[in-house]
Formats: sequence, structure tokens, C-alpha cells
Amino acid sequence: MLGISLQAGIAVLTLLLLFGLRQRFGLAPMYVFIGALQVLQTLTATIFVPTSLGLVFSPGSSVMFSAGLVGVLLVYLREDAPEARRLILALLAANAAAGALMFLLSLQVQDPSVLNGPGLNARSLFYGGGTLVLGTVLLAVDAVLVVVLYEFFARWARGLFLPIVATLTTVLAFDSLVFITAVFWDAPAAEYWVTLLNSVLSKTMVATGYALVCTTYLNHFEREPFAFFQGGKPREIFAIFTYRQKYELARREAMHDGLTGVFNRAYFDVTAQHDVSTCARAKHPLSLMFIDLDHFKQINDTHGHRVGDAVLRAAATCLAGGRRPSDYLCRYGGEEFVMVLPNTALSGAIGIAEQLRFQVASLHERGISPVATTASFGVASMPQDGQTLGQLIEAADRRLYRAKANGRDRVEARD
Ligand code: GH3
Ligand code: MG
Ligand code: MG
Repeated sequence: MLGISLQAGIAVLTLLLLFGLRQRFGLAPMYVFIGALQVLQTLTATIFVPTSLGLVFSPGSSVMFSAGLVGVLLVYLREDAPEARRLILALLAANAAAGALMFLLSLQVQDPSVLNGPGLNARSLFYGGGTLVLGTVLLAVDAVLVVVLYEFFARWARGLFLPIVATLTTVLAFDSLVFITAVFWDAPAAEYWVTLLNSVLSKTMVATGYALVCTTYLNHFEREPFAFFQGGKPREIFAIFTYRQKYELARREAMHDGLTGVFNRAYFDVTAQHDVSTCARAKHPLSLMFIDLDHFKQINDTHGHRVGDAVLRAAATCLAGGRRPSDYLCRYGGEEFVMVLPNTALSGAIGIAEQLRFQVASLHERGISPVATTASFGVASMPQDGQTLGQLIEAADRRLYRAKANGRDRVEARD
């Protein structure tokens, strides 16, 4: 087990070291290393080393091939999709050419007049070439799967570790299935199943180790782009953003309001339209809530705009906090917010609005807002108030004005 652990450690740490150095030397050193891993992997894919765990590990396919996929994932995560595509294409081209060269070598060493210093035999070279051809096809599928599955898992799981480990183990299990079936197709059934199970388990162990090391590295040395600003340390301010990070930042900025940090009007226009259509089609309820701070102009006039801004931020944070993940708050404009609650009927939305109204009114008492403030709420729901976003906005808006007319600091949900 020590040998395999050492091999995996060398593979993943070298990969991360070269990846980390890309801002100085570019990605070429890491790509050359992944290429070297590929060649070693094809020569050693069918060498199986028994370990103290009772599992048999293949240094080639469990350790080296998996490390190559980790490289693809790292590039996709911290650079961007076009860069990952370049790496995949380069790997395919190199594998295909190396396969052809190995086939030719296997023919050359059969000739007795050829001086064969290392004593390479035709059979292993021929099989090496064959493994390369199979590996090339599999690699193409696996590399694309890595990207697709990561996007899929990242939607369901927070953080980096779970999506990374789920992606790697799923891809490697698929890879084991195809590879072991191709190599052991004529072996007795029992041997085939034991080998397959062994391959899946050993790759899962290696993948979990790789995911742990990569997540630790990414969280400590290459934090999420947003953290660069939050921390505000000089070292981080001077960090060079990768294309991927710039893209993520721009995308986030385009969706969020600069002052309050909640979603902005542009996000609302696109997302609410989509959610209303989805819920209407599925015949699910959906509620929409307009929220307007009361006498906000007075706060600005009395205490100044800086205090006004602070109240606005406090109110937004309070309104956005503690909701279900599917609900979202957007700044509609000025001191008006709109909250969308998919799959929530009118009665549920009224309850939430009342809680929020109470929380906003106690912001000053709780020391969160510099000045006391209250808010008025207008609530509308699908299906009773309409089936389109426009109808819901109109109804919620009408009720908000009713709440203002009826004395403010209240929720109105009926005309
Ligand atoms: P009502 O209870 O009827 O809603 O009264 P109001 O004073 O809240 O309503 P009105 O629409 O008259 O005033 C809204 C004020 O919000 C006017 C504007 O100066 C202020 N405002 C809009 N955006 C911002 C902002 O980003 N920061 C600050 N400080 N004030 C803002
Ligand atoms: Mg107002
Ligand atoms: Mg207003």
C-alpha cells in the first residue's frame, strides 16, 4: 500500500505544483507531465499490485490515469472551458500518435536483425499500442464526462469536495466498466466481476484521496474569486485572476446589486419569467412579494444618504436571510425589493411576509440598523391572481399601494 500511496502522492502533488506555477510558467509544464503520465499509464495499465488492504491496485489505471483526469478538472475549474478543451484535444492527438508509434515499434522488434537493447518484446508493445487506442477513445469520453458531471454535481452539492469526489468516482467507475470489460472479456465470469469490483473500489479510494488533496489546495491557495475581495488582504488584491475567475466575477456582478448584494432587477426579469412559466406549466403555486421601505426619503433627509444606505443594506440582508434556497430577493429599484417564492401558495407567502415585516421593524432594536425603519408588503400568488409574471407584478404592486394607503408597516394580500 505504501508504494501505491507514494505513487499517488507524487502524481497529485506534482500536478498541483505545476498547476500552481502556471501564473509564472504557463500551463505547458503541467501538460507535459500529464502527457508523461499517459504514456506510463498505457504501459502499466495491466500491471496489478496486491496491497495490505486486500485490494489490488493498478499503478497505471488507478493512479496515473486518474491523475490525468484530475488535471482536466483542475484546468476546467480554475481556467475555463476552452482551455480544458485544448488539453483534451492535445491528449487525444498525443495518444493517437503514440499508439501508432508503438504499433510500428512492435513490428520492428520482431525482426531478429534489430538491436533491442532494453529487450522490449513485441507482444507488450503491441498490447501497449492497443491499450493506447482504447485509452484514447475512453479518455475523450472521460474528459468530457468530467466537465459535464462536475457541472451536474456542483448544482446539488455545496463546496468543492463533494462535486469533485462525485465526479471523479463516477467517471472512474464508468471507465473501469469499459476498460475491464475490454481487457477481461474472455476471462471466467467470477474473475471478471472480482476484477471489476476491485478496479472500481481501488479507483474510488484513489479518487477520494485526490479530491481531498485538490480541495485542500484550491481552498487554501486558490480561493473562490469572491473571497479575494472579501478578505481584502494586499497579497490577494495583487493576485492575477484566471479567465475562469474573471468570468465568474463578471457573471456574479451582472446578477447582483452593488449596494445591497442581493440579486438585481436584470436577474429578476430573467429568472422570475422562467420560474412563473415553469410553475404555471406544472400547475404549482408561486408567490410574488413587493416590499417597500416606509418613509425612507425621511431617513435620507434627516440622517443623510450614508445612513440611508446602511439602513437599506440592513433591510436587504434581513429580507434575504433564512429563506428556502428556492426563494430569492431582488432589488427592484430604489428602496423597493421583490421576492419570488416558487412552489409557495398565498397563505404561506402571507405568513413569511408577516415574519419579515416583524423582523424589519425590529432591526434597530437588534442593533442591526442605525435607524428604526418599517416596510410595507404587497403579496400576489399564482394561480388566483394570474398566470403571467406581468399579472402577478400588477396585483402585488396594487396591494403594496394599498398597504401604504392603509397606514404602512403592514402586509396586504387581497384587493
Ligand atoms: P413611502 O413610505 O411612501 O414608501 O415613502 P418613501 O419616502 O419611502 O418613498 P419615496 O419613493 O418618496 O422615496 C424613496 C427614497 O429612496 C427616495 C430616494 O432618494 C431613496 N433612495 C433610492 N435609492 C437609494 C439608495 O440607493 N440609497 C439611499 N440612501 N437612498 C435611496
Ligand atoms: Mg418607500
Ligand atoms: Mg418606493
